[in-house]
Amino acid sequence: MRTKIVAGNWKMHLDVNESKTLAYAISEGISGIQTENTRVLIAPTAVNLQAVVNYEKDARIEIAAQNMHQAESGAYTGEIAASMIQSIGVNTVILGHSERRTYFHETDEILSEKVHTALRHGLEVIFCFGEVLEDRRSNKHFEVVSLQLEKALFSLKPEDWQSIILAYEPVWAIGTGETATPEQAQEMHAFIRDLLQRHYSEAVAQKVPILYGGSVKPANAKAIFSQKDVDGGLIGGAALQSEDFVALIKTIQSV
Ligand code: PEP
Repeated sequence: MRTKIVAGNWKMHLDVNESKTLAYAISEGISGIQTENTRVLIAPTAVNLQAVVNYEKDARIEIAAQNMHQAESGAYTGEIAASMIQSIGVNTVILGHSERRTYFHETDEILSEKVHTALRHGLEVIFCFGEVLEDRRSNKHFEVVSLQLEKALFSLKPEDWQSIILAYEPVWAIGTGETATPEQAQEMHAFIRDLLQRHYSEAVAQKVPILYGGSVKPANAKAIFSQKDVDGGLIGGAALQSEDFVALIKTIQSV
């Protein structure tokens, strides 16, 4: 059985006190519930990572970074390195988010470098990918997703996949209120597992968690999380409200 995962991407929201308050509210919210076989991650903005790591005493809540640079270190003003993330006790990094691809021009090639750098430093990667609306309308979504994975991740060794969590995020569903139907999510997740099986092995395909991301909220989570190949969610908007985020954790526990 694969571990279930609910990960909250806080993006460029919340100052340090608001971040601590939300982290606290989430741990309070899950205090009475069983979370075995479910991982809960929150990803504050880089400047607040250290504060939340120091503040969060609930071992069930893991902290993730939202991004990192591909270089080991150097003259890259404003960027953060994998070793810096590691050095403050953060073990997971989100890479490839569509906002990074769109606004910061991160290509599959850059993302491949980032993934390799992250793994070299012992970081786990939540790797995001997904098609834009035009790709889906022209029925190219499988081809697009397959190329994104191939270019960024298929140079990895089979054992590297122990440190990869995939997050399928159709761009047309991120922050738009539009959600893929549970059937669309399942169809794509099954396709991705099949790709992994063909490029690697059945063992890799069955082991890698595949999250769905795109306007997941308490009202639609059950239908999505109960799909066979959906192992949880990467959550944006609903991760900023403790009640909603806790409701999503409870929902995944119930399916
Ligand atoms: C995201 O940004 O990864 C995301 C899924 O956002 P939202 O849940 O707001 O669509």
